[in-house]
Amino acid sequence: MSQSSSVVTRFAPSPTGFLHIGGARTALFNYLYARHTGGQFLLRIEDTDRARSTPAAIEAIIDGLQWLGLAWDGEITYQFARAARHAEVALDLLAKGQAYYCYCTPDELTAMREKAKAEGRPPRYDGTWRDRDPKTAPAGIKPVVRFKAPQQGEQVIADLVQGEVRVANDQLDDMVLLRSDGTPTYMLSVVVDDHDMGITHIIRGDDHLTNAFRQRQLYQASGWDVPAFAHIPLIHGPDGAKLSKRHGALGIEAYRDMGYLPAALRNYLLRLGWGHGDAEIISDAEAVQWFDIVNVGRNPARLDFAKLASVNAHYLREASDEELVRQVVPRIERALARPVSEAAAIRLARGMASLKPRAKTLIELAEAAQVYVAERPIRPDADAEKLLSGAGRANLEALAPTLRELPDWNQTALEAAVRAFAEAAQPPMKLGQVAQPLRAAITGTKVSPPIFEVMEILGREESLARLAECLTADM
Ligand code: GLU
Repeated sequence: MSQSSSVVTRFAPSPTGFLHIGGARTALFNYLYARHTGGQFLLRIEDTDRARSTPAAIEAIIDGLQWLGLAWDGEITYQFARAARHAEVALDLLAKGQAYYCYCTPDELTAMREKAKAEGRPPRYDGTWRDRDPKTAPAGIKPVVRFKAPQQGEQVIADLVQGEVRVANDQLDDMVLLRSDGTPTYMLSVVVDDHDMGITHIIRGDDHLTNAFRQRQLYQASGWDVPAFAHIPLIHGPDGAKLSKRHGALGIEAYRDMGYLPAALRNYLLRLGWGHGDAEIISDAEAVQWFDIVNVGRNPARLDFAKLASVNAHYLREASDEELVRQVVPRIERALARPVSEAAAIRLARGMASLKPRAKTLIELAEAAQVYVAERPIRPDADAEKLLSGAGRANLEALAPTLRELPDWNQTALEAAVRAFAEAAQPPMKLGQVAQPLRAAITGTKVSPPIFEVMEILGREESLARLAECLTADM
């Protein structure tokens, strides 16, 4: 594990559920701070809660981080696998007189808590076994190991986000380090792992701020350097209330399914609680260059889906056409439950440049892509069918020979031909009277990108085939 003095950060999720949006932002901040300082970003899976940790959750976290593009350095550390090392540290403290065996029974502890409650004190361990001779231990009780916490003085943390925070040592009771079955507690494991992994900066949600005081006591008792702490405010829902499922406190994979690009989500999450002047769109290189933990705000940031969509729209416009085809084709295939033909994929690639500025998410893009991936016969929707009856259909029948004989198949020539056709009619027609039914015939809908552009991209053969099939179909 790292011995260097440069920055080492870590993301330390508990795999008891998916990688949620708050966790993703914590990971991002740790990642960026490490990249900004030329340090390392490590991943530790805190799988010590054996009942609640699942392999599926571990997989979801790893997939989520990979999808989001937050590559960690080195191997993943699994906390549970290090239990023997955690116990060793507790036994060292015991040997040095900085921890002790506590033989209190569960009933005694309950009585202690109730007494404190009745006296209006916070429920705390009262130090029964702190100075008691273990020789007086009752038979048949397996003891826990408790930390002999300092009782005088205070813990002062110069938190990089929260500022100076302090708590008097007499407010903190003697926490359990090893349970009676010898397994380490979470608080011990975190400190030992952070120390052994050489973590210099602990950047995490401010729900862990109260843990930092006890953790600091343990660092000191062990004679270890205390890392810098940065407790970042949690993300709240648009209404300012704590994020819940109702707000879309979803796993990162739900954002992927909703059609957001990883680059857009990175940019959006970065701006949640951190800023660089007025900059809204921040490239990865700029983020690495500009990010500093001390610029993270102290107020909870609010999730704003409209903002996320607009950032996503930007990244869709910037993405290459090939990349977007790669992204949307599998979505379309899942939706249609059939493969997209090579010809359709080629049409889509050609149409992508004008589809992408119109979409905010990959879902919208996949829907708009229908115009290119649909296979004949095109089935007009209800709106399109209306345009394809009566005068609309008659206009198309009259127009068809002109289109078949058009020498150049490009949007300028197509538009000129249809316009000339409309103007030459008796009485003359507006362009829309012909172009609208044409759109309905070609795309099966009444909204699409500009129809002459669509026809150029589809090509002569496909366009004329769609039109002919539409005109021979029973309406
Ligand atoms: N495992 C903890 C969590 O998922 C984080 C612990 C830490 O960052 O120190 O909330």
